[in-house]
Amino acid sequence: MKSLWSDEESRRFEAHHADAGRELALRVYTARLIGADTTLVMHGGGNCSVKIRRRTILGDEIEAICVKGSGWDLDSIEPPGFPALELEPLRALRRLDRLSDEEMVNQTRRRLFDSQAPNPSVEALLHAFMPQRFIDHTHADAILALTNQPDPEALVRAAFGDRVAIVPYVMPGFELARVAAECLERHPDVEGLVLLKHGLFTFGDDARTSYERTIDLVDRAERFLAERGGNRSVPSPGGDAVAASRASARLGPILRGLLATRGGAADGWRRVVLDWRGSADVLALLADPACEDLARRGPLTPDHVIRTKATPLFMPGFEAESISDEQIATKLEAAIAAYREAYQAYFKRNVGERAIESHDPEPRVILVPGVGLFGTGRTRKDAAIAADIAEHTLRIKAAAERVGRYEALAEADLFDMEYWSLELAKLGREVEKPLARCVAMVTGAAGAIGVGIALELAQAGAQLVLTDVDEGGLDRARERVAAVTGRLGCLTLRMDVTSEESVRLGFDEACRVFGGVDVVVPNAGIAHVSALADTEDAAFRRVLDVNLRGYFLTMREAARVLRSQATGGSIVINSSKNVFGPGADFGAYSASKAAGHQLGKVAAIELAPLGVRVNMINADAVFAEGETASGLWQAIGPDRARSKGLAPGELEEHYRQRNLLGVRISGRDVGRAVVFLAGTAVRTTGATLPVDGGVVAAFPR
Ligand SMILES: [Zn+2]
Repeated sequence: MKSLWSDEESRRFEAHHADAGRELALRVYTARLIGADTTLVMHGGGNCSVKIRRRTILGDEIEAICVKGSGWDLDSIEPPGFPALELEPLRALRRLDRLSDEEMVNQTRRRLFDSQAPNPSVEALLHAFMPQRFIDHTHADAILALTNQPDPEALVRAAFGDRVAIVPYVMPGFELARVAAECLERHPDVEGLVLLKHGLFTFGDDARTSYERTIDLVDRAERFLAERGGNRSVPSPGGDAVAASRASARLGPILRGLLATRGGAADGWRRVVLDWRGSADVLALLADPACEDLARRGPLTPDHVIRTKATPLFMPGFEAESISDEQIATKLEAAIAAYREAYQAYFKRNVGERAIESHDPEPRVILVPGVGLFGTGRTRKDAAIAADIAEHTLRIKAAAERVGRYEALAEADLFDMEYWSLELAKLGREVEKPLARCVAMVTGAAGAIGVGIALELAQAGAQLVLTDVDEGGLDRARERVAAVTGRLGCLTLRMDVTSEESVRLGFDEACRVFGGVDVVVPNAGIAHVSALADTEDAAFRRVLDVNLRGYFLTMREAARVLRSQATGGSIVINSSKNVFGPGADFGAYSASKAAGHQLGKVAAIELAPLGVRVNMINADAVFAEGETASGLWQAIGPDRARSKGLAPGELEEHYRQRNLLGVRISGRDVGRAVVFLAGTAVRTTGATLPVDGGVVAAFPR
């Protein structure tokens, strides 16, 4: 590990954050250097501070401490991520014998300069009690490998000599702040404090010194681990990465279905989204015979427990290639049931007299040798956080074993952390949206209607899979949709709905990335304008191929995944006003849509036993969705206008005037109808909902 300090960059930060003052600007700079390295901190872990002088509203200059606020990640922190607090009153708290967690939060909040600022880190008092100006706190992997050991002091001494002082494990809060401050007073010349089974603190009077002490000490720990443990990476080969990837697409929906529990959303399912990891490195670590035992031995640092629980679900002896889906499901079901039971027993063992309710007993991380590891969460982002932590955990446990024996915190300490009210605040308590925990696939997502549907599904809380053959259009759609879902919540795939293989691979990829699909919107379509007598066979076939076979192939694969998940789901077909109200010179289109519509009704009958609803939307004349013009109308508009004796520019107005409400229909209008039908509150299947402003000739009948 090397220092990434650059004078030039530091000056750039000073200039950029001149308003915040030099010290806070440099604080932001080195906090970001630390945050960018996932072997130092991950996902909201770690915290930094700086002590500065600040003027009060009365003009008095006093000492203040700016400490990382909750909700900020070090890798993207800005000056407002370091709320300023009056330092002296915080220091005075050291005189207390005890301070409850809730009162500690209250005491820190009272000292904020800005009453609207986020809560300062739960380790704020620890920063306040230390005298140095800059303080950096990390949960560095290499430090955790040294300290999650039966005799960590010996290893820490062997690695660092007297360069650090050792703080025994104490749960974060007032007590740890006091113990750490006392330790530092006994050893004022050390470069850092090693907190056993927790992490590292370094400090200095300038930003660079404190940062580089972190880097130096972690570098030393890494070298020590390499010297003692040997540089050999993992002993056994992990198996075939291609086979693992194939198996992940098969396993995803089965696992996701089994992890869904009853209750929650209106359709009765509380789902999870998965994030799969199957690199060669991960497969090799999972294949190590010691892995199962190591998996039982607890997390690296206490704040991981909130994301991963104390232990993952380990699924041994899994020959995915040679057993059927049913056999996979049976094995997984038994393993998940055992996990739930063990979690409930763990809760009972540790809850004591406390009046708290158990969290759900579901695993957050599933390890499957030969296939990879799966993180679970409400969104792909949450699942990816669990998976990131799980990947580091596998690596660090293996490294710890090479220099000794990996040993995590005691179960009771882990339980305290898992049910610590201040940690739970990190998880947020927002009300879930109607399609939260659902994955939705939209075909033809680059077009005006497709993008409108995707945006509305995203706004309703779904994770999105956007497919199309227009890759440029997909990129533009992703930009708009990912602004709602976040980067990880939106997957784009080139998928040709007329190709069996392309559709199968598309669904496989959705299963690999999210663990499955719950809402499928067959929407890709083309049109052709010509009178029956003049229509060429090839043109007719082409329209049928995309519109009818496209729906067929999409629904067939959807049915496969939905059956595998066994948690219901919804298909919403973007049909057409033409099904009930056909027009001249539009035979191929009208016939293909009518056939697709009928196929939807058959699917409604066939999939009802699985709890899958299939409904149709008959939209009319969607010319655009915001900036996205309808490719279909651009292609056929001039011909359609000619058929109706209009100039091309008059067409949109013609359609607006002919509906009862006199409204223009947008892609978002169609999207809202999709959300309504896909939404879990609608107990109907085989139904048709027109979205056309009211066209009497096309009333469903
Ligand atoms: Zn910490």
